[in-house]
Order: sequence, then structure tokens, then C-alpha cells
Amino acid sequence: MTPILMKERTAPVLIEGLEAAVRRIPRSHPVSPNLQSRLSAAKAGYGGELELDRVLNTYKFPHEILEFHDLSLVSHTLFQMDTLLLTEQFALICEVKNMAGDLVVTENPPQLIRTADDGTLSGFLSPLAQVHTTCKLFEGWLRARGVHLPVYGCVVMAYAKQRITLPNTEIPTLFPKLVPGYVGELMTGSGGLTTDELALLGQRILESHQGFNHKPICERFDVPTEVIKGGVACPDCDRLGMWKRGKGWYCPACKCRSMTAHEQAIRDWFWLTGKPLTNAACRALLGIDCPRTALRLLRAMELTAVGNKRGRTYSMQLHMELAKHT
Ligand SMILES: [Zn+2]
Repeated sequence: MTPILMKERTAPVLIEGLEAAVRRIPRSHPVSPNLQSRLSAAKAGYGGELELDRVLNTYKFPHEILEFHDLSLVSHTLFQMDTLLLTEQFALICEVKNMAGDLVVTENPPQLIRTADDGTLSGFLSPLAQVHTTCKLFEGWLRARGVHLPVYGCVVMAYAKQRITLPNTEIPTLFPKLVPGYVGELMTGSGGLTTDELALLGQRILESHQGFNHKPICERFDVPTEVIKGGVACPDCDRLGMWKRGKGWYCPACKCRSMTAHEQAIRDWFWLTGKPLTNAACRALLGIDCPRTALRLLRAMELTAVGNKRGRTYSMQLHMELAKHT
């Protein structure tokens, strides 16, 4: 059977926020290079995670597996897991890495040092040390709930073309295709939880997940909201400044038409500012003059409206939480 997906990844949501920032915070702003590199890293990381998901979700395991992504739990301290596979006999934490360049993991200090193709050196936390710490914390979390289940960890290199040098360690470093085999090796065939206990533990993990409310990007990176660029972005060429034509939008640069391009502009606003949107601010954002048009567009979206006619504002909850599957 394929694993049961208990919790989806949150990366697509994070990426949407960073895309909004890159689109609307001027390149001349000092924070711009940081946002660009965060977006590239988030996209690369997510690409790697999808590679593992694809392997796991097409593999027929002979036993039940619950699969969780981007979980945050508290045991002494808050800790996060990229991918957690939970079976009746053990838990396996997978830390996925997708980085270009030459990677060297050192032990003392525990670091990952990357030499990019252009020769630039950068240092990161060692994924081995990360997995080790996360395993210990999750073990503690389980023990505090009376569950005695061995917790294993592995580092997953998303693509076989990645070059990595590792110290001697008990924590395996695998490519996605090798993860199902490793899961099989860990199965000893005896002991552990019953099917009901596994289901119950899965529920408890979901209930304990600490979803975090995302701070608006302008606040997080100290960018005044006045610098945000207005205009509707073209869904094809991503240029700002589509023209309102009839009920839809027209891109003067690539001639593309869209009926819904304004929705992304409004979502961008909430990602960046987190502030309620008034009719006037909406017109300034979309580059339109008519209050009735703005009203129609705002009403058609699933926004929370507060206040009476003139003072009405609209807001949107961009929670980091995605749908939970049980
Ligand atoms: Zn265009």
C-alpha cells in the first residue's frame, strides 16, 4: 500500500509569499537580493522534496505508513521535520537536501560547506547533526506520551547528480529511490504498535502540530509598505501593469488576456502588508479608477469584510496551514 498522507507540505505557500515580495519590492531596495536568494532556495528545496514524495507515493509498501510533511512539534524546544514516516514499528525522519555545487559535511564543527560553481563558499548547519538532534527531540516527544518507538533518521539527497563528501556516520545519506528499501530494512516484523495505536498516534501528532502564523513580509524584512509596487501582474510574462479591458485584464507587453489576474495582486497585498484593504487602496493597487469595479472584484473573492459602506475593509487569512488529510 502507498503511504497515507497525513499532512501536506507548506512550501508552496511560502513560495507564493516570496514571489509576491520579489515581484513588488523594488530591486533597488537593500532587502531585494536576500528575498531573491530565499525564493531560489525555497524553490530548489521544494523541488527536492517533491522528488522524494514522488518515489514514496508510487511505492507499494507491504505495511501501513503514515506520512507527514513540514511538522513542527514541541519537546523542550520547537523542532521541525521535513518528512516523517510513521509505522507500527518505528519512525523515520528524512531531511531532504537539494543544493547545487560541491558539498562537504564536516564533523567538528558540524557544518555543511558548499562551493558553488562560481567558487563562492557558504556554510550551513550540518544535515547529519540536524537529523540527529531532530531524532532525539522526537524520541523525547514520544516518550513523554508513553510511546516507546525507535526513531531513525536519514539525509536524502534529492538528485543523484549532487556531489557530497561525508564523514563516517551511522546516519545514512540516500537518494530518494533508495528510501523505500531503507524503510524495508528497518522493519523487523515484530513488536511495536497495533494498527489502532498507530492511527491514534497519527492523530495526536497532527493535533500537536504548531502551525505558525506568518508575519507579513514587509514587517519581517523591515520594508515600508509605501515602496510596494502596484499594478496587476501578467500571469504569462509576470510584468506589472495589465490594463483593465471589459471584465478582464490585458497585458500590453505580451498581449495575454486574463479574467482573474487581479486576484494574485490582492493576495500579494495581504502577503506583503497583512493589512486590511480598503476600496481606495484596492484601486491604487490594481490601477483602476472606478469604485464600483473595485467593489465587484473584492466581493467576488473570499475575503472577510468588516465595517459599513464607506469605511468597509477587506482582509484575507493567509495561514501557513494547508488542508490536513486524515
Ligand atoms: Zn504579459
